[in-house]
Amino acid sequence: MDGFRERVREFVAALVPPGWTGIGALEDKEHAAFRARTRAALAERGWVAPTWPREYGGAGFGPSELVVLAEELTGAGIPFGSDNDAFGISMLGNTMLRLASPALCARFLPKIVSGEYVFAQGFSEPGAGSDLAGLALRATPDGDRWVLNGQKLWSSGAHRANWMFVLARTSSEAAPHRGISMLLVPLDQPGVDVRPIRNITGDADFNEVFFDDATTELGLVVGEVDRSWSVAMTLLGFERGETALHAPIRFRNELNRLIELVRERGLAADPDIRRRVAWCHVQVEQLRAHGRRAAARLIAGQEPGAEAASFKLLWSEYHRVVTELAMDVLGLDALTPTGRPSPNWYQTDDPGAPNSPASWTTVYLNARAGTIYAGSSQVQRGIIGELLLGLPKEPKAAS
Ligand SMILES: Cc1cc2nc3c(=O)[nH]c(=O)nc-3n(C[C@H](O)[C@H](O)[C@H](O)COP(=O)(O)OP(=O)(O)OC[C@H]3O[C@@H](n4cnc5c(N)ncnc54)[C@H](O)[C@@H]3O)c2cc1C
Repeated sequence: MDGFRERVREFVAALVPPGWTGIGALEDKEHAAFRARTRAALAERGWVAPTWPREYGGAGFGPSELVVLAEELTGAGIPFGSDNDAFGISMLGNTMLRLASPALCARFLPKIVSGEYVFAQGFSEPGAGSDLAGLALRATPDGDRWVLNGQKLWSSGAHRANWMFVLARTSSEAAPHRGISMLLVPLDQPGVDVRPIRNITGDADFNEVFFDDATTELGLVVGEVDRSWSVAMTLLGFERGETALHAPIRFRNELNRLIELVRERGLAADPDIRRRVAWCHVQVEQLRAHGRRAAARLIAGQEPGAEAASFKLLWSEYHRVVTELAMDVLGLDALTPTGRPSPNWYQTDDPGAPNSPASWTTVYLNARAGTIYAGSSQVQRGIIGELLLGLPKEPKAAS
């Protein structure tokens, strides 16, 4: 680990222009070009998937280097990868390394790192969200292929993706959470129709995806056929827990920007605003403590698991409140937002972003979704109660 932090700092210094305050300061076109350039530079070093073995395009790092990398890149306002890397690398790749065959890993992981394969997540359906075991999309074997029919919903970034990991029902004989397989399905084929859905900000970052006799190879199953429930649960642990390393840094950065806004607007002496800012400060300190604990667990070789639920609950509930405070600080300007909107739909705005009303209102609107995606707050509370606190299981409604 000797000198690794310095190496990352040198990498950052060579990448960013003079006077750098974070990627949020760049205008749209520059923003996209910088992100693409950064991802390529990170991928070249194996740093988009730092802990993966080198043979799969990773850097073979241990958790200590991962923590340093996350701290340095996020602290410098540099994105860790592309938006879809959350799906391809954090969720799918990390799960495959534990639960997929070496042959499947060798075929997919290097191409996910290079950016040739861009993944989206196909779990939710119109009748299956929190109750994921109720999913109905069916995959039937036909010769050397699976044939898929059904629909996925709310698939973030599917319009940018060329592959999707899909939870499909492959047997209807067993209990609902049995008979499910996780298949890797190419999206670029006639049987797949990706239709973007416009969200409350006016952007379209999630989609409905229709499968009409779409096909994929019989061997593209993560884990065992009909037995992917535990694969899906492992993946959800990564979805909820992975951000613990860098999200607290982003939330601190965002709160600092809000404090600047409070000062700019002459509200620093307002007792109600002061009380609410102080509350936010305490929440961010809690998030930082969670981040440290997550890092310590990683370094000790433990996986996110059910603990990830409390981090997910804490950040998403906090983010609703802090962005509501931003709206109150902006007052009427929040109703007629001017300036550059945030390019991010996920969590905070980018570091270095302007304190524009449009930027804060997009983040405020997007924060409404934070307590829903990756499992709703109610579901996280259920997990905390049952798995972390050992409380009795919640009663099931009679069917
Ligand atoms: C911005 C955004 C992006 C998303 N991206 C993706 C994606 O890329 N891929 C993907 O597969 N999905 C994605 N989702 C879907 C997301 O995972 C689901 O919306 C979420 O799991 C909730 O499911 P649902 O919408 O069906 O709501 P429901 O499950 O119908 O829930 C409705 C309400 O009932 C409550 N509820 C449900 N069950 C319980 C329970 N057991 N105890 C207490 N309360 C309960 C919920 O908390 C909620 O308030 C995304 C969602 C959003 C908003």
